[in-house]
Amino acid sequence: MTPSPLGLYLHIPFCRQRCDFCAFYLEIHRDDRAETFVQSLIREIGLSAQQHVAAGRPIQSVYFGGGTPTVLAATQLIAILSEIRTQITLTSDCEITVEAHPSTISEQDLAQLLQSGVTRMSFGAESMEAGDLSRIGRPGAVSETITAVTQARAAGFTNINLDVMYGLPSQSLESWQRTLDRCLTLEPTHLSCYALTVEEDTKLASNIQRQRSPAPDEGLQIEMDEAAQRILGNAGYERYEVSNYAKPGYACRHNLLYWTNGEYLGLGPSAQSYLDGTRFGNVGDLMAYNTSLAANRLPIEDHTRLSEKERLRDAVIFGLRLIRGIPSHHLHQHAKNYGHAAVTAQLLAQQLIEEDGERSRLSARGRLQADTIAGRLY
Ligand code: SF4
Repeated sequence: MTPSPLGLYLHIPFCRQRCDFCAFYLEIHRDDRAETFVQSLIREIGLSAQQHVAAGRPIQSVYFGGGTPTVLAATQLIAILSEIRTQITLTSDCEITVEAHPSTISEQDLAQLLQSGVTRMSFGAESMEAGDLSRIGRPGAVSETITAVTQARAAGFTNINLDVMYGLPSQSLESWQRTLDRCLTLEPTHLSCYALTVEEDTKLASNIQRQRSPAPDEGLQIEMDEAAQRILGNAGYERYEVSNYAKPGYACRHNLLYWTNGEYLGLGPSAQSYLDGTRFGNVGDLMAYNTSLAANRLPIEDHTRLSEKERLRDAVIFGLRLIRGIPSHHLHQHAKNYGHAAVTAQLLAQQLIEEDGERSRLSARGRLQADTIAGRLY
């Protein structure tokens, strides 16, 4: 039997500074910390190859996420990629994505990354309006996004994603539409549009609590979501997941693994994995991560083997996010397994989940409450 392909995620836990809305685990970048981390990650790749992927399972996607992977030097990213190629089999058409903050990458870096085999660049634009960026404490300038995308294309990248956010403090519908229009002039193959959510213990949450910043307006976010679907749809992008739009043939192969209950190995501090029916996660602390690998031990701290019911639960919860949805009988079997029949009936009656007989998916309104709905179905 051909082994099923899997994805590889590398968590680069550094940023130059923390954005006001961000609750991810990260460290502020310093050259010495970064170099120690790269050596640890290279060791982790070798150990993982022996223990998890030695069965010859080909990797179909590699994703450098974070954090900000491009705070590392391009040479460090290339060294990591080179170790992956030495230790692990990649499919010949492997999708290799690097997330980048536009102000942390140069023309030369982009040329080197392309040459090393990176196939997809994902730029965190967040907004194309300067005022929006400053109101969320996001460093960088709109002009840097334009320059980075232009240089990526000139270097030879043909698959480019832009991440943008809506529902930002004081962002109007018109300003959001201008952001989308400006993104379209850059002709990305893929756009990820995220509704701003206010995470606990962030500077943004504290600003809202002290009334220094307005809280997101759900009604306006719905209008913005609809505007994105209309504008991007008219421009030839297909919405394939709650937050994701792609030109035909450019859906992100790596992220699709998460929503289709596919398998992936996550390396780096706090990275999560799902392999052979087991979820496991790395320690979310850089120092503990380095110490473990210095002793030639994988830095895994949680390990949960999923039952059949739990696998179906995860397939339902993630799959509902896809526009193509999931077979309706999976939703109803899951409801039966977990005693969620009443909740499911309510979500259908409230039209937060829609069913067309054979398939079920989140409705337009449900997509804005995806995390809450996932919590109710868990
Ligand atoms: S660049 Fe991304 S990961 Fe880093 S602080 Fe900002 S939102 Fe968080």
